[in-house]
Amino acid sequence: MDFELTSEHQMLRDMTYRFAKDKFPPLTEECDREEKYTRDLVTEAAEVGLVGAWIPEEYGGAGMGSLGNALITEQISRVDMAIGHNIWSASFGCEDILHYGSEEQKKTYLPKVCKGEWICAGAFTEPNAGTDVAGYKTRAVKDGNDFVITGNKIFITNASNSDFMLVQCVTNPDAKRHDQFSQIIVPTNTKGVTTNHMTGKLGLRSSDTSEVAFDEVRVPQANLVGTEGNGFRQLMNLFDTTRVWIAGQCLGLSEACLEESVKYVKQRMAFGKPLGSFQISQMKLTEMAVNIEALRGLVYKAGWLIDNGSPDFTLSAMAKYFGGKTAVSSANYAVELHGSYGYFEDYPVQKFYRDAKILELYEGTKEAEIMTLGRHVQKD
Ligand SMILES: Cc1cc2nc3c(=O)[nH]c(=O)nc-3n(C[C@H](O)[C@H](O)[C@H](O)COP(=O)(O)OP(=O)(O)OC[C@H]3O[C@@H](n4cnc5c(N)ncnc54)[C@H](O)[C@@H]3O)c2cc1C
Repeated sequence: MDFELTSEHQMLRDMTYRFAKDKFPPLTEECDREEKYTRDLVTEAAEVGLVGAWIPEEYGGAGMGSLGNALITEQISRVDMAIGHNIWSASFGCEDILHYGSEEQKKTYLPKVCKGEWICAGAFTEPNAGTDVAGYKTRAVKDGNDFVITGNKIFITNASNSDFMLVQCVTNPDAKRHDQFSQIIVPTNTKGVTTNHMTGKLGLRSSDTSEVAFDEVRVPQANLVGTEGNGFRQLMNLFDTTRVWIAGQCLGLSEACLEESVKYVKQRMAFGKPLGSFQISQMKLTEMAVNIEALRGLVYKAGWLIDNGSPDFTLSAMAKYFGGKTAVSSANYAVELHGSYGYFEDYPVQKFYRDAKILELYEGTKEAEIMTLGRHVQKD
């Protein structure tokens, strides 16, 4: 057994952290307060290979695999998870283009994303169906050589800033529930597509979350990704891929909580002693540190297994589930250790606390993961 990261992965980890430390902090406060998306920073990150780094080199990526991308989401989230989200999610949706798309689709879309020229959005969730992934209603009907798409999506990361979207559509409404869906690439500037940037989020405020309406949107049938009727399974595969990266976000945010807390308890005095000398503070720091190391093990192993051809998607789901819990509890402890100072925006922990909650909501809620894992552990 070898627990060492390769020198390439270590370099990627360190370079990502340096990039984030250098570029994010001047933007953090304003982007969080004004809910500003950081388009230019995505371009800069792409220039150093951080966008779509998991995409193989032949399609313009850095070929750093799943573990490499998890190291990226970890390090950017250690500095500012919301700004970092804009960087890694610029390729969100491309996973299925790589795994199921035609050679032409891969060559058309993936290199542009990796260069930071195009932003992708994965448009799946609908106003009336989120967790119920087979409950989506957006309809794509064949007409001549085209699909005509009508329906509504909600909470779509990057949509208002995107150049194209991977859209989950019903193409075969009479088929069995899980065979009704297909994935279709829709350029965002196609006639009939309207996006609306949603404001007022609790956290992750510098990311773009949007509603999307499709009103008889016409795209060529050649934009179908993979096989007609296989969209449900393709989407499950996409989540299997991306869960490790969200778990990387959880890890980075939890580390930031611990780092800020350690700094604070060393200098804050109470009853004539530093806060860190009290057992109750040590209990909180210890729990954060132990959870972080356990989470690191899950994330890196899940990523490593994917890269080595023996993916264990249950482990990825465990990493995301445990990651969400760890991030939320670490942020809670971090605020507690800061006392009322932690409740004010002068200290970063209040933002960590707001940002953390999304990690138990998107890409499968905590409850959805419990359902999946609960079934799995009962298998023989
Ligand atoms: C900032 C942000 C970014 C996002 N980005 C994207 C994106 O890029 N693309 C995209 O498609 N979506 C995106 N989403 C949407 C997100 O993935 C969904 O909101 C999420 O999957 C939950 O769906 P829902 O909100 O419809 O909740 P619901 O499915 O209505 O669930 C509500 C509650 O009920 C629980 N629940 C549901 N079913 C069951 C059940 N059978 N048993 C027990 N409990 C259950 C859920 O766990 C949850 O607690 C994003 C959301 C946010 C907030």
